[in-house]
Amino acid sequence: MLIAVIGAGPCGLACAYGLLKRGHQVDIYEREQAVGGLSKSMPLWGRNVELGPHFLPARMDAQVKALLEELMNEDELLLYRRSSRIRIEGRLIDYPPGVPDLLRFWGLRRSGAAIFFFLHAFIRKKSAEPNDLESYIKTYLGSFIYRHFFKEYTEKLWRLSCASISSEYARSLIGLGDLRILSLLKKILPSVRKAKHSYCLYPEGGMSRLWSAAQSAIENRGGRFYFGAAVGSIGEDEGGGMALKAYGREERYDNIVSTIPEAKLLALLRDAPPCALMERARSLQSRNVLFIFLRIDRSGLMEHHTLYLHDRGVECVRITNCSRFGSECGNDVLLLEYWMDDRDELWLGDEECMIRRARKDLDVLLTNVEFLIMDTKIVRLPKAIPVPSLHNKRCRVEIGAYLNRYKNLLRTGRANQDQFNYGMEEALKDGLLCAGTLKE
Ligand SMILES: Cc1cc2nc3c(=O)[nH]c(=O)nc-3n(C[C@H](O)[C@H](O)[C@H](O)COP(=O)(O)OP(=O)(O)OC[C@H]3O[C@@H](n4cnc5c(N)ncnc54)[C@H](O)[C@@H]3O)c2cc1C
Repeated sequence: MLIAVIGAGPCGLACAYGLLKRGHQVDIYEREQAVGGLSKSMPLWGRNVELGPHFLPARMDAQVKALLEELMNEDELLLYRRSSRIRIEGRLIDYPPGVPDLLRFWGLRRSGAAIFFFLHAFIRKKSAEPNDLESYIKTYLGSFIYRHFFKEYTEKLWRLSCASISSEYARSLIGLGDLRILSLLKKILPSVRKAKHSYCLYPEGGMSRLWSAAQSAIENRGGRFYFGAAVGSIGEDEGGGMALKAYGREERYDNIVSTIPEAKLLALLRDAPPCALMERARSLQSRNVLFIFLRIDRSGLMEHHTLYLHDRGVECVRITNCSRFGSECGNDVLLLEYWMDDRDELWLGDEECMIRRARKDLDVLLTNVEFLIMDTKIVRLPKAIPVPSLHNKRCRVEIGAYLNRYKNLLRTGRANQDQFNYGMEEALKDGLLCAGTLKE
């Protein structure tokens, strides 16, 4: 079969490779000039950096592992121990936190309260599955943990009340989905949670090394890439296949696999969907991400890979120390992440005001540390993160139901699922799974 894949991010690449291995012919359409999607590296100050930490857990799904082994030699992938912290109330705790970390952090009195409310919630458990984040955390972990750990950071990230955020988001964060005490304990015990996260892989020289290896493997098997090719329209053709228009040229395919957001896909349909549905698609909520890269005049300023900032006093939501990935040395490159809306003062402001904000946040975090900012780079990613709100969930169900009528149009990848902690591993796995659903 002849198949078009829209998007050459991790998911599109894995899908294209899987399809070629099954004997299909594949064309890949990518809007940008390079592969890798949101996971591609960016050259900066003589090294490659990622947009965000981009941890690839070393303990991964067997199919994804086999794919990686086909694409890269073992010695090209660096194994490192991930070290992440949360800064909360001005103190640091491990991320993801285990029960002992939290108990130590809260001390005797507050830990007692946390345990009391946890047991209280457990005894009063409801049979109906909670729908929103607030009731989900309160049901599974109790109201103390909700108020003292989840509430503030969730509202800082999404600028919405926790009652408007869907329970799927909470589930993807804490992985609890069943109220039996044994299941709860198994998930909560820190050793179980940390093992998965602690070791990660990083292609020496940047994540893009992996995506370039995938591109070469696809081309070697006859796959064709079209770069700078934002797909203009798609529709069903008379022969039961699909028509796709890009570069002003129309091609016919047996199937199309899309890894782009469903709302965007809707807008590409040649037979325009109902206006009310387009209106719903336009109402989807998302957050812009502002990345502020800073080259500092010294090294070792931050000893962890990432710092999640729950603190109210800093606007930044996460700091990544880019210098801790790979084996480069030299001055620190810190990446400060800000999540915001279109109307946010910082988003509308000029670069100078963004750098001032970053400096101010760093001064709060690094009291009594002298440092100079030598270079800066700003990257803006509009509408990068879909908000896991109940509103979006409802809209996406309607959009999905409409798109399901196109039998030869498959949807996969980050943009087409509800899980918040959806990373490269999931994207690669979904790409391979999707390829497996298309039979010769
Ligand atoms: C700030 C941030 C930090 C992250 N940190 C991590 C992490 O630590 N670990 C981790 O595993 N994951 C992380 N991720 C998630 C990771 O980036 C994604 O899960 C992964 O890139 C998803 O791959 P994908 O192929 O599904 O989608 P994308 O990477 O989004 O790829 C989609 C592709 O489609 C293309 N496209 C869009 N519209 C069109 C069109 N009309 N025509 C043609 N092409 C089009 C895009 O250009 C893009 O290349 C992070 C993401 C962000 C935003």
